[in-house]
Amino acid sequence: MQMMFGGASSSGCSRKTAGVAVACIVVAVSQPWQLQSSVSDAFLAPSSQQTRANLASDALVGAIAPQPAAKYEQQPRSSTGFASVAAVAASVAAVLAVGSSLRQRSNNPAFGNRTVAQPRVVAVSRKALNTGIVGLPNVGKSTLFNALCDKGVAEAANYPFCTIDPNTGAAKVTDKRLEKLAELASSKKIIPEFIEYVDIAGLVKGASKGEGLGNKFLGNIRSVNNIVHVVRCFDDDDIIHVSDSVDPERDIETITFELIFADMDQIEKRLAKSEKDIRNKKDGAQEEKNALDKILPALVAGKQARSVELTDEDKEAVRPLMLLTMKPVIFAANVAEEDLAEGNAYVEVVRKLAAETGDKAVIVSAACEAELSTLEGEDKAEYLESLGVEESGCETLVQETYKLLGLRTYFTVGPQEAHAWTIKDGDLAPQAAGVIHTDFEKGFIKAETIAYEDYVEHKTEEAAKAAGKVRIEGKNYEVQEADVLHFMFQGK
Ligand code: GDP
Repeated sequence: MQMMFGGASSSGCSRKTAGVAVACIVVAVSQPWQLQSSVSDAFLAPSSQQTRANLASDALVGAIAPQPAAKYEQQPRSSTGFASVAAVAASVAAVLAVGSSLRQRSNNPAFGNRTVAQPRVVAVSRKALNTGIVGLPNVGKSTLFNALCDKGVAEAANYPFCTIDPNTGAAKVTDKRLEKLAELASSKKIIPEFIEYVDIAGLVKGASKGEGLGNKFLGNIRSVNNIVHVVRCFDDDDIIHVSDSVDPERDIETITFELIFADMDQIEKRLAKSEKDIRNKKDGAQEEKNALDKILPALVAGKQARSVELTDEDKEAVRPLMLLTMKPVIFAANVAEEDLAEGNAYVEVVRKLAAETGDKAVIVSAACEAELSTLEGEDKAEYLESLGVEESGCETLVQETYKLLGLRTYFTVGPQEAHAWTIKDGDLAPQAAGVIHTDFEKGFIKAETIAYEDYVEHKTEEAAKAAGKVRIEGKNYEVQEADVLHFMFQGK
């Protein structure tokens, strides 16, 4: 049966046991108008899936019943939002595994009623797309991480190696389009997207040979999807520099070469094994060797793996090696407050080097970004104006990171909430629906689609519809950046 669903009524599902939680999902599927609260009760942990289920109502067409207020106003996600069957399964598994402790937590005010100003990463394991913050010690990595992620877990301190374990945090993706849509639809809540950063301890010369806990830190970099390389571009005699002077070119080279050396070591070890693997006809061994034979000479010549022209087959063959210099990089030139608007001579050096490798460079001022991240509204606008910038360096950095990860945003908008959702470039409408809940993907029928510009021009959905700007898109539709969507799906 095909159905169009809107608001949600309260389901009768009990939240007593994790087993019941699973049962509730089944009920939710058979009675989809109960999906919102059924699934939210099911996920006792404040997982992103729960949030999605709680907050998905405006994504659905029609209105069956008034919606109860969402319990968790916003949850920064430790993933970038690619819900999948596996993700739901992982969430359910996580709930089953740690059901009772999470139930206790669910009653803990610390896990409920969060506000946008206090993002927290929830404790549900899922595969996340994330970005590692790297650089020499004392260049401002932890200060920047704190500002980005709006929390004080990464201790910023004036001595090398104060950061030993990687810290993970979620940074809000500021999106003026979302604010505009919320204003037009008079949405009660704005729910932005979040992306994950990992604060990785400082690397020093010789890290690839184990200096300064280098191997551990390089291992941490291996597990991230891309890299923000923080470069010190401020003078301050009170802040120790590991090489006693500020020199962005030398600093960038130091880090880059350590990454190159680490990749060379790894490739040489792989190649030493690969002959045997090829003799044993191990799957993918020949393809891997072919790719590594292209990459190694480039590394020896001081180039990075991502500069090598590789076929799709090559890329696939070396993907498991997670080569450090294959990861896309954004340079964050960390300047003094007064240089945030215009930059300085150090920033020019960073820009030049970034352009040579085809990477992005963004100016940040970690020290004042930390202060900026605590401000909202007029206070923030005044401070930005006094700095001579329109948005903070962190906001720009997050937006650039988002692009670098190959992510796209679409919106769901309604009186309850204006919500940004993250998908990958090229995702089709059912996959986009699956970000909200996997049932939306499985039972996907069609998506009512309005381009952001059309929505803003016509101000309401009704007016956009009257102007012929609401398209009905099917399962082969590739969701475009900033589409405003309503999904119709079929319950089983
Ligand atoms: P990390 O080792 O790279 O993580 O560096 P931290 O973030 O711990 O910063 C090291 C020191 O530099 C701290 O005392 C920070 O307050 C200081 N610092 C960070 N960013 C700036 C900046 O933009 N200007 C100035 N003057 N100091 C900064």
